[in-house]
Amino acid sequence: MTIPAIEVCPVCGVTIENGAKVVFSAGPAGNRARLWARVCNFAKNPDCINQDEASIGPVQSQDYYD
Ligand SMILES: [Zn+2]
Repeated sequence: MTIPAIEVCPVCGVTIENGAKVVFSAGPAGNRARLWARVCNFAKNPDCINQDEASIGPVQSQDYYD
């Protein structure tokens, strides 16, 4: 399976580089777990590309907004 260098979630509008590095519209880059905790978790949309638990990995409590 080839991971595209750049993926854009059509639901959240967030860019994922190389399947791992998440570029937010504001603030520092993060990982898929952070994206999920802060954005995709709330989207609850099957078209969101960041809903796969295996790719997201463990979500830490600090990944959520305070
Ligand atoms: Zn998403």
